[in-house]
Amino acid sequence: MEETLTIIKPDAVRAGNAGRIIAHLEDAGFVIQAIRRIRLSRAQAEAFYAVHRERPFFEDLVAFMTSGPAVAIALARENAVAHLRDTMGATDSAQAAPGTIRNLYGTNIQNNAIHGSDSPDNARVERAFFFAGCDLVG
Ligand code: GDP
Repeated sequence: MEETLTIIKPDAVRAGNAGRIIAHLEDAGFVIQAIRRIRLSRAQAEAFYAVHRERPFFEDLVAFMTSGPAVAIALARENAVAHLRDTMGATDSAQAAPGTIRNLYGTNIQNNAIHGSDSPDNARVERAFFFAGCDLVG
């Protein structure tokens, strides 16, 4: 099985949708290998999104991701990276296909409820950011 990493973002946790999003992921066939409630520091958010450092929205993104608790989840499934991206929907919640997590629980291009790794290589890096090998089950 392939592995990936998701974060239920602060907007969705604040709105009380973390449980519904976890159920949505399980219904989509993902196995939860490890799960952690997190509160990202500024340094952690900047490191996690380092690839976006030069983008005009970087400061807003860091402020958003540090604005409250989030939930990091290590996931496994066949074709997990691509399937999670399909299950999440487009980055902009307003453009996300009906029934996707971002369509159901996101608000706009920034407050879009959920993160998902965009490649197996990035999934490995992002999973190691939050979880040690001994945390992973099944
Ligand atoms: P993703 O892989 O679909 O999450 O999208 P990206 O890697 O392009 O962007 C990372 C995150 O930055 C997104 O999930 C949004 O939370 C945020 N973001 C992306 N584009 C914009 C934008 O144009 N404006 C703002 N404010 N945030 C954005």
